[in-house]
Amino acid sequence: MAELAGGFIMSKNSVFVYSDAFQTYKFHDRHPFNQLRVKLTYDLLQTLGALHDSQIVAPRLATDEELALVHDTDYIEAVKKAGRGQLPEEVALNYGLGTEDTPIFPNMHEASALLVGGTLTAVDYVLSGKAEHALSLGGGLHHGFRGKASGFCIYNDSSVAIKYMQEKYGVRVLYVDTDAHHGDGVQWTFYDDPNVCTFSIHETGRYLFPGTGNVNERGQGKGYGYSFNIPVDAFTEDESWLAAYTEALIEIADFFRPDVILTQNGVDAHYYDPLTHLCTTMRIYREIPKIAHQIAHQYCNGRWIAVGGGGYDIWRVVPRAWALLWLEMTEQSDISGRLPEEWVARWQPHAPVSLPLEWDDPENLYSPIPRKAEITEKNAQTVMKALHPIRSNKQRLNL
Ligand SMILES: [Zn+2]
Repeated sequence: MAELAGGFIMSKNSVFVYSDAFQTYKFHDRHPFNQLRVKLTYDLLQTLGALHDSQIVAPRLATDEELALVHDTDYIEAVKKAGRGQLPEEVALNYGLGTEDTPIFPNMHEASALLVGGTLTAVDYVLSGKAEHALSLGGGLHHGFRGKASGFCIYNDSSVAIKYMQEKYGVRVLYVDTDAHHGDGVQWTFYDDPNVCTFSIHETGRYLFPGTGNVNERGQGKGYGYSFNIPVDAFTEDESWLAAYTEALIEIADFFRPDVILTQNGVDAHYYDPLTHLCTTMRIYREIPKIAHQIAHQYCNGRWIAVGGGGYDIWRVVPRAWALLWLEMTEQSDISGRLPEEWVARWQPHAPVSLPLEWDDPENLYSPIPRKAEITEKNAQTVMKALHPIRSNKQRLNL
């Protein structure tokens, strides 16, 4: 570690997977999923002087064989054809392609394979020991299924990455998903696998896509007990959300003892997010990576791969939240106060809303939530239910 001119302590051990080509994953101009947010984050970090050329690595394309670790080959062929305008509409719909959520766009196979390749690049850096931590914000497409696109996701980079890690490196993976939507694609892929532990904390599926992620979804067969879900109530605020996340992640990590941790960092639990109903602020996006980082060092020799995910207020929420993730990863997390003025000035003319001027949100971001106490109590009950198997087993073994 070396003290640099700006007063930052730089860790040499993290890589940031990035290419402007992440922008090619684009459904259309009015679609809520917008990869401009990755560029906004990248630019924010560069403007801040917190991301150096030596830390940036280019994503590679995932091969068809790699995609087929998870995805059906007929689905991969369908995605290729769709991207060339050669897939009949009724066939496309069977694969979840051409829907309102997941429309067809030119060269969608190549664009999607690049996001998967970005996550695989991050994996190889960390598991070959070239880096301790790696971040690929192009990834995090947790709704992609074996043979079907869903919820803005075509290929599931995390699922492919976990299979790849198992086959190439023989490691046990803890997958942690803090997106406001349930990490269904990854959960179902490893539902019967005791060597992958999935933990998703999300807004209850009662009113929100994809509707799953109930606390009782615990895995099946040999994988029973290795799937954890904490569905929090709508209008959950920082304190209750963080209490649930922290308590659960610490106990799950201690139970599973992973070799590597993969975190999906959707940032759509924020109050401003237009697609969800939670009331969290930038405070949780400071804390989420902090705990993940601790776990990585406590159990995994530092091995931590982080990907992006949801996040639909691309101007006010995503750049700050994802920048904080990188700042935590590289031990520069003491940054607060005003955002770089140069960044605000550069992007404000393009934004339909006023950009925030500070890293943290103001105290009075929204009016008080009337059901706060009830929601807090309900979430605490949900955490108890989710962790019950771990706790009762510990009690039985007298630990
Ligand atoms: Zn989401």
